[in-house]
Amino acid sequence: MPIEVKNISHIYMENTPYEKKALNNVSLTINEGEFVAIAGHTGSGKSTLMQHFNGLLNPTKGEVFIDGIDINKKKDKKTLNARRSVGMVFQYPEQQLFEESIFADIAFGPRNFGCSEDEVKQRVKDAMDFVELDYEEYKDKSPFLLSGGQMRRVAIAGIIALKPKYLVLDEPTAGLDPRLKQNLLQKVKKLHQKEKMTIIMVSHNMDDIALLADKVAIMRQGKLMIYGGPREVFTHKDVIEQAGLLEPEVMQLLRKIKEYGLDVDINALNKQEAL
Ligand code: ADP
Repeated sequence: MPIEVKNISHIYMENTPYEKKALNNVSLTINEGEFVAIAGHTGSGKSTLMQHFNGLLNPTKGEVFIDGIDINKKKDKKTLNARRSVGMVFQYPEQQLFEESIFADIAFGPRNFGCSEDEVKQRVKDAMDFVELDYEEYKDKSPFLLSGGQMRRVAIAGIIALKPKYLVLDEPTAGLDPRLKQNLLQKVKKLHQKEKMTIIMVSHNMDDIALLADKVAIMRQGKLMIYGGPREVFTHKDVIEQAGLLEPEVMQLLRKIKEYGLDVDINALNKQEAL
């Protein structure tokens, strides 16, 4: 079952002098098991769109369905469960750590979801295992004594412990050094491939998109400009340029697609590279 966004618009501070239309009639479907990347310039509406996937923001117009349930219609248990099937990792998630121990921080979500203490413990263990933080060594430590990269891993473990069916990540590698970045992306890839999580990732990095995504959505000024497979999307050079995704990055991306053997028309690629 998919996440379906149908003709949504979002206006911040409607009917005030500060009114801002951040989303303009956006529709897209994210099928179960897909890895979808959302790219676009700062201010193009990526974060606003993301926050509609679990009902954190309500659309001014339009509807969002998760597994067939309109998540903004009723406030019943079914709706709550549908919203809860979407895990959300915001930018710099480590800024949201607040408990005094790493265990308590990761346990916060599962406890809130009503898991038994045994289940909570197991989920914390599994999540720490997944992000490669030794349970015995770290569980009682303060998250605030960790390095930046470790803090981010704790924050992500807190979402993984909720076992979401859909995982939404807003620039998860922002501010990390290249080694930590690769490590984190490998983990996201593993969540997708081994745990079969559906992944929606906001990213500026064309390399990451080329390597990971089944589908790419390009946003510009609140509109979804194009949505499709990397090959299809990246043949629309004009859209990419308009979206502020720079030319050298596109070239780099096309080379990656070639290198990693995705289904690419090499002639078209060479023609573009010659331009
Ligand atoms: P992106 O994630 O692509 O950088 P955003 O979704 O954050 O874009 O922002 C889209 C537009 O909405 C921008 O013009 C931004 O200034 C505006 N915006 C975002 N959040 C708010 C808010 N809470 N109140 C008013 N305007 C906002």
